[in-house]
Amino acid sequence: MRQGLTVEEAQDVILEATPILGAETLSASDSAGRVLAEPVVSARRHPPADCSAMDGYAVRRGDLIGASAAAPRTLPVVFEVPAGGQAERPLSQGEAARIFTGAPLPPGADAVVMQEDTDSGAARVEVRIEPAARAHVRDAGEDFDVGDRLIEPGVVLGAAHLGVLASIGRTVVAVHQRPRVAILSGGDELVEPDRPADGGRIVSSNSYTLAAQCREVGAEPIYLGIAEDTPEAIEARMRAGLGADVLVSSAGVSVGDHDHVRDVLEKVGCRLRFWGVRMKPGYPLAFGLIEPTGQLVFGLPGNPVSTAVTFEQFVRPALRRMLGHRAVHRPVVQATLTEDYRKKPGRLHFVRVALESTSEGLRARPAGSQSSGVLTSLIRGQGLAVVPLEAERVDAGTRVDVQILDPGFFDADERGF
Ligand code: AMP
Ligand code: MG
Repeated sequence: MRQGLTVEEAQDVILEATPILGAETLSASDSAGRVLAEPVVSARRHPPADCSAMDGYAVRRGDLIGASAAAPRTLPVVFEVPAGGQAERPLSQGEAARIFTGAPLPPGADAVVMQEDTDSGAARVEVRIEPAARAHVRDAGEDFDVGDRLIEPGVVLGAAHLGVLASIGRTVVAVHQRPRVAILSGGDELVEPDRPADGGRIVSSNSYTLAAQCREVGAEPIYLGIAEDTPEAIEARMRAGLGADVLVSSAGVSVGDHDHVRDVLEKVGCRLRFWGVRMKPGYPLAFGLIEPTGQLVFGLPGNPVSTAVTFEQFVRPALRRMLGHRAVHRPVVQATLTEDYRKKPGRLHFVRVALESTSEGLRARPAGSQSSGVLTSLIRGQGLAVVPLEAERVDAGTRVDVQILDPGFFDADERGF
């Protein structure tokens, strides 16, 4: 088993071992945010026929050559085509038909004159322009035609895609399945949030952070509870999670006397691929695969910030890969660090930062204590500044990479244009 990988090496091992999940059929209306697992080919044409883009009059252009406000032409209005209706007969030379937006163009007509260019007459209409060929006509199939390939597999379905699916009459769609993630917490000191945290006990927050991180990415968390620090207790709870696509445990994966997670993982059939990633927070991290099912297993460190940050770097990309996403990583922006930062070489640091947008660009201010136990620093920042493995110092004023954890940072109080 490899030990002490860089963040990049660890991500490579994980993503290489991560399958894209198969497809499931879903009601198209429930598919927003999911990744399409099939090409969407249109079985319809839209608009289904040439139709009017305006309220006005369907005409034959040849009847109006030279018409203008100074020299209007008057045509008889021989019938009306409402939206959703049909022309009762073709339009003959010298005739006009009243027509409304979206109504099919009568055969014989080749242009629409909008009513603002007429006297809006009922029985006869005075036309004050010479329309261009096919003026205000939406061509049949202008949006899409039968057989058009409209959406490619791998696309993340958004609101406009759901509109397109509806407009081609698709009520079901194949998307990649959501991974089910079994979440295990471990530690004799842990209690659930509704229990008294006294006598050396602390509340287990990791399961809640992890479940929310799973949901945010589109995976389905399954909570396995808190295991006491005995191999038997850990094994019993872990076995309950072996049917899921991913198992994520937090704590008990370090080198202490009460850290049994790695041994139990091996006992339940997990072949560990690596242990330890050269990063801070979060060195002790185990990754492996259950044999023969291929279930991914992450033994995350227990300190709350380490758990959340290692989920971000390793579990989230894997879950996105499973969901079929091509873009599996968080976006990175450049920002100017507002304070000096010192560290020992040998580990990549993820520094919790509060971002601020200024006229000189983004500024990143370290968000208080960087202790891996101070979870509240994660709610004071929107991103993680990345300080490279071998760096020893980054001076205030230096541009650094910042991984954005909260895309809501880009939402604005001001209109911005
Ligand atoms: P461990 O890896 O078991 O040594 O845990 C490291 C630290 O994380 C200890 O201080 C634990 O109390 C804390 N910790 C472990 N699990 C949780 C949890 N589920 N929620 C909050 N803190 C935890
Ligand atoms: Mg522990």
